Amino acid sequence: MPMSQSFKDRLSPILPEIAQHFGTPFHIYDEVGIRETGEKLKSAFQAVKGFREYYAVKALPNPHILTIMRDMGFGFDCSSVAELILARQVGAHSNDIMFTSNNTSQTDFEAAFADGGCIINLDDISLLKKLPQIPDQICFRYNPGSGRTGNAIIGNPAEAKYGISHEQFYEAYQQAQTLGIKRFGLHTMLVSNERNFQYMVDTVKMLLELIETAYTRLGLRFEFINIGGGLGIPYRPEEEVLDVEALGHEVAALLDEFYGQQSYKPDLHMESGRYLTGPHGVLVTRAINQKHTYRDYVGVDASMSALMRPGMYNAYHHIEVYGKEITGNERQVDVVGALCENNDKFAVQRALPPIEDGDLLIIQDTGAHGHAMGFNYNGRLRPQELLLHPNGEVERIRRAETLEDYFRTLNFPPNKFSPVLSIQSVV
Ligand SMILES: *Cc1c(COP(=O)(O)O)cnc(C)c1O
Repeated sequence: MPMSQSFKDRLSPILPEIAQHFGTPFHIYDEVGIRETGEKLKSAFQAVKGFREYYAVKALPNPHILTIMRDMGFGFDCSSVAELILARQVGAHSNDIMFTSNNTSQTDFEAAFADGGCIINLDDISLLKKLPQIPDQICFRYNPGSGRTGNAIIGNPAEAKYGISHEQFYEAYQQAQTLGIKRFGLHTMLVSNERNFQYMVDTVKMLLELIETAYTRLGLRFEFINIGGGLGIPYRPEEEVLDVEALGHEVAALLDEFYGQQSYKPDLHMESGRYLTGPHGVLVTRAINQKHTYRDYVGVDASMSALMRPGMYNAYHHIEVYGKEITGNERQVDVVGALCENNDKFAVQRALPPIEDGDLLIIQDTGAHGHAMGFNYNGRLRPQELLLHPNGEVERIRRAETLEDYFRTLNFPPNKFSPVLSIQSVV
C-alpha cells in the first residue's frame, strides 16, 4: 500500500489540471498526509517524557516542508552548512537543531556554533580537540561494531564509517568532562528503512545500558538519548507498515523501568526523515516515447536526476498509470529516463497497463530522499516541487532547474596561475 488512498483521493481529480498548469515532471507532496503522520508519531510517543522528533533535513530539504515540521513542534537533524541554514531559516535555533555531521570540517563546526549554536553530535573522539569553542552540552554518535548487526540496508555497523567505537565510549565522555562540559547526550543510528520496530526497541535498550554504566563509572547523567532515523515505510504494495504505536509503547515501558532503577530518565529524541515524508510525495512524469527492442520500454520526461533510488539502490517505487486500472492486460516494461546510463530506469520489467505517449505516470513514495538526491550528470536538470495544501491549493515550492543554473559554475572571473615550479622554470 504505497500511496495512501486519501492522498490518491485528493490528487486524482485534479492531477490533469495540475500537470496542465505547471507542466511535467514534478514531485508533489501532500501536506495533509505529512501532518497526519507527524501527529501519529507524536501520539505514539505521548507516554515518553521529553520525546522529540528532529526531522532529518536531508530527506526533503525544502523550507515549505520544514515549516510544516516546525509547526508540529519538531526540531531538525542537520549535517551540512546548507542544512543548518535551512533549519535556521524556518526559525529553529539552539536545542531545535541536532548537528550530526561526520568527517567534520572547521567550516562545518563554525556554522554549527554560529547563530546561537545547536546540539553538537560528534562523530569521533578526535573532534573534541577540533571544536572551535567548548559547548556546554555534547553528544557522541555511538557505533556498537560487532555488538549489533544493523539491518540489511545500512549494513554491518563494524564496517560503517560512523561513530565512536565501543572501546572509545567512556574515554570520549571522560575527555568531554575534562574540558568542562557538563551536559550530555548519546546518539546512534543503526538501521535504514526498517519496518520491524523491534530493532529500535533494541537500540533504546542498548543506549540505556550504556548510560547506566556511564553513571556508575563516570558519574554522568544523560539529558537525552537519540535513536537516529531509519524507520521504514512500505514501498511495495505487499509490505506492512511499521507499528509505530507498539514502538512508542515499548520504548515508554523501557524508560519507565530505567526510571524505576535510576530515579531519572533521559529525554528520547529521534531523527526520522523517510517515515514522515516518504509516503506523502509522488513524482508525476509523462510518457513521451515507446520502444520495442529486446524489451519493451516506456520513456518518460523525468530521469534519474529527479529520483536516484531505483538506479542507486535498485529500489522499488510503485508506479501507477493515471486513469488506467490493473485489468489483466498489463505488459512487462522498463520505465526509463533519458540519461546515457543504463541504470536510469524507474522500473525494470514491471507489469503496467498499456501506456500511450502523453499518459501520466505516478511514481510513488518520493517524499524522502527523492528530489534531494538528484544530480546533474549528463546535463539533466532537477524538476520542480509542488505542495498540495489542505485547502486543495497547489503551490510551487521549488522551480525546475534551468540551463542557466547548470551553466552558472562556468561563469567566473578569469583565474590563471603559473606555479613557480612550472615545467619552464625547471628546464
Ligand atoms: C539520513 C539520516 C537520518 C534519516 O534517515 P531516514 O532513513 O530518512 O529516517 C537520520 N539521522 C542521520 C544521522 C542520518 O544520516
